[in-house]
Amino acid sequence: MRRAACTSSIKRRFGLPAALLTWLGLGLGAVLAAGTPVAAAPAGRDLSIQAGAVFDSVRGEVLAGRRIVIHGGRIVEVRPAHDDDPPPDLDWRDRLVMPGWFDMHTHLIGDIQSADPLAPLKSSAAEDVLLGAAHAAATLRAGFTSVRDVGTYRGLVDVALRDAIRRGEVAGPRMFVAGAYVTAPGGGGEVTGTPGASLPAEFRLGVARGEEALRERVRVLAQGGVDLIKVIATGAVLTEGTEPGAMEFSEDELRAIVDEARKHGLDVTAHAHGAEGIKAAIRAGVRSIEHASLIDDEGLALAKRHGVFLAMDVYNGDYIDEVGKRDGWSADILRKNRDTTDAQREGFRKAVAAGVTVVFATDAGVFPHGTNARQFAYMIRHGMRWQQAVQSATWHAARLLRVEQELGSIEPGKLADLVALPLPADGDPPDFEAAVRVVQEGVRVEGPAVTPPLSAVRRRAPEEPVTPP
Ligand SMILES: [Zn+2]
Repeated sequence: MRRAACTSSIKRRFGLPAALLTWLGLGLGAVLAAGTPVAAAPAGRDLSIQAGAVFDSVRGEVLAGRRIVIHGGRIVEVRPAHDDDPPPDLDWRDRLVMPGWFDMHTHLIGDIQSADPLAPLKSSAAEDVLLGAAHAAATLRAGFTSVRDVGTYRGLVDVALRDAIRRGEVAGPRMFVAGAYVTAPGGGGEVTGTPGASLPAEFRLGVARGEEALRERVRVLAQGGVDLIKVIATGAVLTEGTEPGAMEFSEDELRAIVDEARKHGLDVTAHAHGAEGIKAAIRAGVRSIEHASLIDDEGLALAKRHGVFLAMDVYNGDYIDEVGKRDGWSADILRKNRDTTDAQREGFRKAVAAGVTVVFATDAGVFPHGTNARQFAYMIRHGMRWQQAVQSATWHAARLLRVEQELGSIEPGKLADLVALPLPADGDPPDFEAAVRVVQEGVRVEGPAVTPPLSAVRRRAPEEPVTPP
């Protein structure tokens, strides 16, 4: 949960027009049918890469000195480099090449989080999606070639952005979108803070209580073209008047949502901080748990037994604490953030030790888009080896989304989404926040964009004489 007004710094750092022009100038046009998660890239995207090393995300190993050959946007060959290889298109002998990263918990649409809980109501749909385009470009340039975008207050705007990116009109990661929050009235996925006021219908696409009404909401979202269903099973840190530990749906309601989603071929992920909500959601059949902040040992065992993925945003709490205090976010939000941050990190450590699959998931949109890679260091600090952290952002993420036949590893047949980091010394973790190079379906992503934000131009009044500057 997240978001609100204040012009994001990302918008200034990465001008959208340049991003768009760069993209169009490269002649891209991946036209995919709505509702199709992945499909073949058009021909003509050929690249040869000489890599200092390649990360094998299936086994979690680094393979030195590899040649990667890409044809038509797909990897066709990965083999040891030879002395007599012809010069490559990309000489990345000083780089460690990984599969493009996935951030499994983003909110690209609209402006980033601010102190104003009503901010989502103060922007237009056009502003929301244009900001989303700038956020998407920043995310892609940071090495994230895919995201699971888990909710927007104004429903289905994310579907439009996903499709524009698919068609090559806007630069951005491949998006898997939720369309809206399936949430109880006044719950963690509602715009709260307007007691008595009625919200426009587009803000309440997923709001319902009771099994039949919830099934109907799921059908509306499925017909809207979403890739997954996101249910708010407990209260949220950033939504006023809701408590992270408290369940907002019964287990039967959660089961109805999962059952209806399955009829439409969709998986469900549950936002759940509290231990009881986490366990109820797992028993109801969700594929993943977002946040999982207060997960207990029984919940960890259940997650492992059911093969449920945990999407734990272990960086985010520090950002909220720092910026929230500085910018005057509500005391209640800061209190809830403190109550969940350290507990979540402890749960993360236990989950990793217990062998529960944890995916890379940041809640970007609470913090500025494009800085997602900061979370790698937190995951390593709280119990993962760096290789496990990369697997969580590649192979395991692709498995969660059921696209591991197309994405998530550098192997022949896979789509050529790659991120290249400076080659670390033997055994050292790479610098995840260093300037990365990115390839998306066999095309180099250029950047950063150079278009500056433009000055306001003062217009002379009709009666005002022209004076020299
Ligand atoms: Zn979120």
